[in-house]
Amino acid sequence: MEDNKIIGVLSFQGSVEEHLAALEELPGVTGVPVKTREVLKQVDGLILPGGESTTIGKLLGIFGLLEPLRQRILQGMPVWGTCAGMILLAKDVVGEAPHLGVMDISVRRNAYGTQLDSFQATAPVSEISDAPIPLVFIRAPWVERAWGSAKPLLTLDGHIVAVRQDNMLATSFHPELTGDRSVYRYFRNMIG
Ligand code: GLN
Repeated sequence: MEDNKIIGVLSFQGSVEEHLAALEELPGVTGVPVKTREVLKQVDGLILPGGESTTIGKLLGIFGLLEPLRQRILQGMPVWGTCAGMILLAKDVVGEAPHLGVMDISVRRNAYGTQLDSFQATAPVSEISDAPIPLVFIRAPWVERAWGSAKPLLTLDGHIVAVRQDNMLATSFHPELTGDRSVYRYFRNMIG
């Protein structure tokens, strides 16, 4: 039997409960909310949820987690940013200051504009699953540019919306809002 792994969900704001509920469906995983440095030390991997990246970024600073989290990521802790979480990971945010600044990507916030604020799609992501996966975008960012060892996993209509760089995964979309758990299984495998 595989070891149980503790996957944290950064719990300041955004779709925290939805991620925790999804983690409950996964064998070999215990999901925990993370708001403090003490709990951050205990997790084997961390999900940065969707929400408002400016707010979550500020709260990371106020609660003293920005630097400890950056260090854990640089030391190799698997991390997965969804939507706002992708923005938090990026080394470059178009027109704004970066937050954690660890991933070799440039992201554009609210990239789909107001008219297409939110939409759904389905696409095959060969690295993640044999079956096409449902994609839910909510005022989503896209990746304008990926460099270094950041590898695009999915390009939709000419824009990168999923990227992997070593221990880091970022998706513009929200798997926690669908019944599909393939991205969770992929992230669980990143933890080993
Ligand atoms: N628009 C949000 C931001 O820029 C991200 C939206 C989301 O996480 N669903 O932070």
